[in-house]
Amino acid sequence: MPTIDHLLSRKPADRQRVVTISKNATALEAARVMNDHHIGALVVTDDDHTVAGIFTERDLLTRIVSAQRAPEKTRVADVMTTNVVVCSPETRCDDVRHIMREKRIRHIPVTEGRRLMGMISIGDLNTAEVKVLAETITYLEQFVAPS
Ligand code: AMP
Repeated sequence: MPTIDHLLSRKPADRQRVVTISKNATALEAARVMNDHHIGALVVTDDDHTVAGIFTERDLLTRIVSAQRAPEKTRVADVMTTNVVVCSPETRCDDVRHIMREKRIRHIPVTEGRRLMGMISIGDLNTAEVKVLAETITYLEQFVAPS
C-alpha cells in the first residue's frame, strides 16, 4: 500500500481542503459545518490557526447528546479531544490503518511541521484499498482467462 501523500493527491478537488472550526464556536455550529460538508470530523483551531483539537460526530453523540448538554451553549473547546493523533505525508497507509484500529479513531489529520496538509478518514483508506483490490482482480482475470 502507498503512502498518505499518494492518497491525498487522489482525493477529489472539493475534498482536498481540511475543514476547520474555531475552538470558540458552539457544538451546534460544528454540527452544521459537518452537515454542510458531509463530513464526520473537524480540526479545531486556536486563535493563531494552529491545531488545538479534533471534534467528531462521535463527540456530538457522547459528549453532547448523551451528556444532555445544550449544543447551542457548549463551546467546541469544552468537548473536543485535545491530544490529537496526526501522521505525516510520508506515513504508510498500512500504518495509518493500524493506528486507527488500535486507537479506535476514524480520522487522522496529516501535518508537516505545524502545517495542516490534509485529513485522512477510514473511508479514504477503504476507497483506496478497494481500488487496488479491483485492479488486482482484473489483472488476475486477464492472466487466467485472457480475452
Ligand atoms: P472518530 O471515530 O474519528 O469519530 O473519533 C472517536 C473519538 O476519538 C472521538 O472522541 C474523537 O474526538 C477522537 N479522535 C478522532 N480522531 C482523532 C485523532 N486523530 N486524534 C485524537 N483523537 C481523535
